[in-house]
Amino acid sequence: MMAFGRFRPQLVVRTSWALKIATSAQGPRATVFHFWNHFWFRRFLRAARIGFLSVSLYSVGYASGASDMAIDPDGMLRQKATSLLHSIGATDEKGNVRLCDPGCEEFKAVQRVLPRILQAARIQVRRMQANLQESIKQQEGPATDAQEEELQSLRRAQFQLDTWSDTGFILADVHTPNAFVTPQVPRLIFVHRGIFRVRRRVPLEEAASGSLVYIHRDRWHKAKLVSTDADQASCIITLENSQQMSVDKRELFSLKECRVVENDEQLAMLLSHELAHAVHDHGSDSLSLSASAYQLELLLLTALDPSGMITFLLEIAAGAIARYAILLPESRCDEMEADATGLQICALAGYDPRLASVFLQKMQAMEDFLDSERAPSWASTHPTTEARIEALKHAEEDAVKCYHSHKEWKGWFGRAAH
Ligand SMILES: [Zn+2]
Repeated sequence: MMAFGRFRPQLVVRTSWALKIATSAQGPRATVFHFWNHFWFRRFLRAARIGFLSVSLYSVGYASGASDMAIDPDGMLRQKATSLLHSIGATDEKGNVRLCDPGCEEFKAVQRVLPRILQAARIQVRRMQANLQESIKQQEGPATDAQEEELQSLRRAQFQLDTWSDTGFILADVHTPNAFVTPQVPRLIFVHRGIFRVRRRVPLEEAASGSLVYIHRDRWHKAKLVSTDADQASCIITLENSQQMSVDKRELFSLKECRVVENDEQLAMLLSHELAHAVHDHGSDSLSLSASAYQLELLLLTALDPSGMITFLLEIAAGAIARYAILLPESRCDEMEADATGLQICALAGYDPRLASVFLQKMQAMEDFLDSERAPSWASTHPTTEARIEALKHAEEDAVKCYHSHKEWKGWFGRAAH
């Protein structure tokens, strides 16, 4: 109380000093100070300051990343790929990265299909460049900013695809069905083994003695079924440590498998979709969009009073608004665009694009098999499979024309045509 009492007169003096200058009618100097005290002007200055600060931090991070990349590009990419593999769970109990053996059937399939898809993606990016240049030539006046930007992005995509090696993929030993490309590790497709087959534990129904079963005790344990009693209520099992125990049959599970990608055509659909993201340079777009969205969010928060409850609620809402109103719809548009371009790439590589909707229906069946809690369309990075099938029907006509009449790919792949 004493300390507060001592400071209070000083505050009064300073406030009255500021008020005196701000409210006195002594020419332009007083007007400037009045402007300075304006509520929104002060918030604007604060927002601008934070804006500059975030740009500076971004530049420092960018410069540091660029410097690391210049010193040891391979080491840097390996490090990023390793941390990505950790994030998707491609690691064993000791933290070692789990990749599929190059001799396995799945590895050979990707090795067989990817070179054809890559070559077709290179053709596709050149076709898109030619189409755009043709429309610029036909229009009156020079290229618009949007067209220049599009050309620039296609040039980046062309460079990336031209320098993408035929062995530019990683087959991670993860049993979730996924494949992706990322701007953090360019020229590499990450494929999960789960795109070939997914497994799920289902309650045990009929099982013969000696079959493999699973039981959950803190974690999942494998066991061998020894026998089931006459009323099918309890079973005797042997755990991996040879311990034998009697358990309720309802505690036992078996492994059910669902195959997703069953042939080269289906794998081609999936890889084409991923390379279509590279053709459209979606990675760079989403990186810059996220950076802008977070910066906008930061500026909004700084302009508002951070001490009030309404501001606090707005603070929570700002992140959600950026995510649901900007990032997710953009991501869903990108997916639709990649589906349509992926179809063209498939056709150029000599795979029948009409199989795409059948493949997506299989994906739908797989989602049902996994029985996962699906996020509603508006809260997901991907549109629903139903919406993708519907959109593909429209894109299919063009791709089929391309498949039947386009001669380019036949030169590349010889007798690959069906
Ligand atoms: Zn995608």
